[in-house]
Amino acid sequence: MADTTEASKKDNFDELQFLREIALTLAFSDDSQVLLNNLKTTFAKYFRIENFQIFIKDESSNILRDFVKNWITVEKNRQQEFVENIFQRLKNVCDKGFILNNKLIKYSDKTEQMFLNNLKDKQNLLYFPVFNEKTAFGVIEINFNEIEKNTASQHFLTVLRIAAAQINTTIVNKILNQKLCVQIKFQKVMKSIAKLIENQFELNYILPIIGELIDGFVTEHLIYIFIKDKNNKFKLFWPLDCQDSNILSLLPKINDKKNCVISKDGKAGLFALKNEDKITGVIAAGSNIDKLSKADIDYLQQLTLQASVTTQRANSYAQVLKYATLDALTGLNNRRQFEVRLKQETANAIRNKKPLCCIMLDIDYFKHVNDTWGHSAGDCVLKNVAKIISHELREYDIASRYGGEEFCILLPDTKIKEAAFVAQRLRKAVEKAEINISDEGLAGEVLNVTISIGVSEFDDTFDSANKLHQYADAALYEAKRRGRNRVVVYDESLS
Ligand code: GH3
Ligand code: MG
Ligand code: MG
Repeated sequence: MADTTEASKKDNFDELQFLREIALTLAFSDDSQVLLNNLKTTFAKYFRIENFQIFIKDESSNILRDFVKNWITVEKNRQQEFVENIFQRLKNVCDKGFILNNKLIKYSDKTEQMFLNNLKDKQNLLYFPVFNEKTAFGVIEINFNEIEKNTASQHFLTVLRIAAAQINTTIVNKILNQKLCVQIKFQKVMKSIAKLIENQFELNYILPIIGELIDGFVTEHLIYIFIKDKNNKFKLFWPLDCQDSNILSLLPKINDKKNCVISKDGKAGLFALKNEDKITGVIAAGSNIDKLSKADIDYLQQLTLQASVTTQRANSYAQVLKYATLDALTGLNNRRQFEVRLKQETANAIRNKKPLCCIMLDIDYFKHVNDTWGHSAGDCVLKNVAKIISHELREYDIASRYGGEEFCILLPDTKIKEAAFVAQRLRKAVEKAEINISDEGLAGEVLNVTISIGVSEFDDTFDSANKLHQYADAALYEAKRRGRNRVVVYDESLS
């Protein structure tokens, strides 16, 4: 015993210095690539080593992966099968032994002797298990080119064992830390998707954000969102392009009953966005390199579920809001919304020093339509007149159904001459229109109606926004009085 200690000292193997360097390397290498390189360098300073490697079991795929490659699968090759076999043997002994040159050696009072007996002149392959709480999940491989027999004392083995235990602890911490980081990131993404609804209910706005959030989370795979169109076909919604043929060919396979479909090669997956039990869209993940792991699939399912909840709620908010502001029959703004917009637009006109006009229009002899053709034919006329109005206006004009068969239009940034021109155009379009009421059970019947129109212009001396509307109404009354189917522009003689 005394001899070998003397010998190792002579060979200048400073155990304390070695262990100290290992400890410092482990403490100060954040990145796993740097960690492995530094460990290799430290080992190489003390021993003639050929290779130093760490393999870790990937939980989801159950494949041993190169620790440094950061979970990118090592292609199945002989080396991996060999290491897999070593792992299986070490799994059972866990922290109670190691493998030297394919010989499993358990710790006992004969360990030192067995270690020496199994040493070769060259190419010594030594494996220690990586384990946590009695469960092995990887191996440390040290490939010594040669070890001086006299260096290889029990002391030497103890030092290696301590080094391996230190490396083990660091790896366990790193992996736990990685897992924790993923969990935290996942929770953040879930929360962000849920929170979207707090200030948005426009799907056109929400869906791209959901896409970006999930894409940022699933690093190895690209994310796409498809939404069902009117013809029940999936249309790419986000991003602008999808070239992944795997995903495109999977699309027909997902339906109301399937929440998730994975491609045969495992590299692409579709996850159903649902509204109640109906599929409304798909969140797709694809890669041409990596398979989707079990963990990826699990995360994507949960994220898609959250996205479904968010889009569902956005839809119902939009619905509620729509009903609160729009007229159910014509789809134009309702009277309440008109009052809101009138206030906004007069305020805008004052602030921006821009003109603003108002058109009031009323269908002529509408009572006669109802009396002759029935109420549903009357409704049909109302819908058609509303359609003509929408068609004739600019995007930022505001059309509302004011009541019964009266409509009110706000024309921002429009002078009275232009407004009168628009009014004439509207009047002519309605006069010309052949309104088909055959849908209302009256086969082949076509109606013609006319409208009367009053036009007014906002003036910042008005004491209230309502005046704009009152003046247009006064002009409309005058148009009726003068015989209907005409446009009257308000002037002071009418008040
Ligand atoms: P004028 O040319 O003076 O405007 O005559 P008019 O018959 O159009 O005027 P009046 O205001 O007397 O009649 C409007 C009618 O519109 C009365 C009402 O029954 C009908 N009306 C109001 N709302 C609706 C609706 O939602 N659907 C249908 N079909 N008719 C409606
Ligand atoms: Mg009328
Ligand atoms: Mg009326």
